[in-house]
Amino acid sequence: MSAVCALGTRRLLRQLRSGPPAAAAAAAMLRRYSLDVSAPLLRTQGYVDGRWVSAASAFPVLDPATGQEIARVSDCGPAEAKQAVDAAYTAFQSWKRSTAKERSVLLRKWFDLLLLHKEDLAKLITFECGKPLRESLGEVAYSASFLEWFSEEARRVYGDLVPAPAKDRKILLLKQPVGVASIITPWNFPSAMITRKVGAALAAGCTVVVKPAEDTPLSALALAELAEQAGIPAGVFNVVPCSREKTPSVGEVLCTDPLVAKISFTGSTATGKVLLKMAADTVKKASMELGGHAPFIVFDSADLDKAVGGAMASKFRNSGQTCVCSNRFLVQSGIYDRFVERLGQAMDAELRVGHGSEPDTTQGPLINTKAAEKVVQQISDAVSQGAKVLKGGKRLHGSFMEPTLLADVTTDMLCTKEETFGPLVPVIRFNTEEEALAVANAANVGLAGYFYSQDVSQIWRVAEELEVGMVGVNEGLLSTPEASFGGVKQSGLGREGSKYGIDEYLEVKYMCFGGLKA
Ligand code: ADP
Repeated sequence: MSAVCALGTRRLLRQLRSGPPAAAAAAAMLRRYSLDVSAPLLRTQGYVDGRWVSAASAFPVLDPATGQEIARVSDCGPAEAKQAVDAAYTAFQSWKRSTAKERSVLLRKWFDLLLLHKEDLAKLITFECGKPLRESLGEVAYSASFLEWFSEEARRVYGDLVPAPAKDRKILLLKQPVGVASIITPWNFPSAMITRKVGAALAAGCTVVVKPAEDTPLSALALAELAEQAGIPAGVFNVVPCSREKTPSVGEVLCTDPLVAKISFTGSTATGKVLLKMAADTVKKASMELGGHAPFIVFDSADLDKAVGGAMASKFRNSGQTCVCSNRFLVQSGIYDRFVERLGQAMDAELRVGHGSEPDTTQGPLINTKAAEKVVQQISDAVSQGAKVLKGGKRLHGSFMEPTLLADVTTDMLCTKEETFGPLVPVIRFNTEEEALAVANAANVGLAGYFYSQDVSQIWRVAEELEVGMVGVNEGLLSTPEASFGGVKQSGLGREGSKYGIDEYLEVKYMCFGGLKA
């Protein structure tokens, strides 16, 4: 690591925070960070049918902290996407006949390799999506855990032998893989979103074509390198990286080709709807993990320390850029002032803005300046309607945002109506449980929700009433491979992880054996 680390985040932060000349100095300082991951993990070509393929052109991958180019990656187009679909279809004919044990062993090898290369994978994640290295290491462990989990689940795909209504019949329900799955993933968890889907798909006996987000192809290609090292057969796992310009045409192949049986997407609700419409023509199965607008409710009876800890954990991971990040804080009037004060203190004490590769950074940049502008717009809208800025409030250099705490927020403000995807805590005051639930459930999405209460009856009532797919009860971090991940309303379709995740890649075939003699 360069001398920049020794200079320390504090100085960088001071420079980021002060006026334009200092911001320019901070920018110059940030430019000195460089990605020191080498071959074979730093792959820049597409991966199709077990081969590394170049495309006619390449597109740049940028470090969102500095704007510097860290690699140029093959810009795959519809032709490469079609090759990948064809390869996956051919590979499916033999992969579906492999035994569950064989698939399990390969997934386990892939898992072992992820752990073996966790440092390099984490660096790739930090440099292409900006998150602090500690969080990237956490992501690699989380990402690997899905390969481990589905290597185990692969062997537990049971069918049913059903009591028949007639003596001369036997009824068997057999689970079979759906076929080729197109997998389109976002930039905020570039490795985990891939393994969470691909682990389930491969365990089920499906083959896949992955289109990683434009900003984060490197971690996807590193996963392909490790899949190859693990011995996953050619054509079973394909990756077609592409630029923003090529995305619609590649997406069209992946969502409309008749050889594709299933699409699985994680990203914005708007894009999810586009993909669903494309997939409708050939009636593909679809799993959608879309946007959230998570409420974080603190009732008067809450344990204040735990609520503040949960708020910090659920809000500031990846600088607020996860779909399960708390997006609206609803705090009951009896605890409101104390909660806001303690949360402000925790933000001062725990949050450090800087380049993700600095050891004490907790808040990296947002993915791009547009993302930072959206947060700024939400803040100024709230302030214009009477919200008070208690911490932060400003955009720093580039796409760095100050962690921001807003009090006296109302439901008329933009920040309580749409997903923020940034380090903004808007705190709304409420008086009754009914009022809190009405506000929480007013959203047309429902992914995660969190609440803090020590009243057992209230806990049951609120946990059941919240219109979300995942509830944190006195807990701010939920994600784990053992549990189901997914949302209700416009947050999506289907569930990932858990014993249900594999079902998204399976069909149930009913076999009726008739005319049997007793
Ligand atoms: P963001 O707003 O963060 O870019 P998106 O939902 O648009 O979120 O992106 C998530 C993923 O969806 C990315 O891999 C992106 O390339 C992909 N995507 C966006 N538009 C399309 C499309 N028309 N076809 C296929 N994939 C798309």
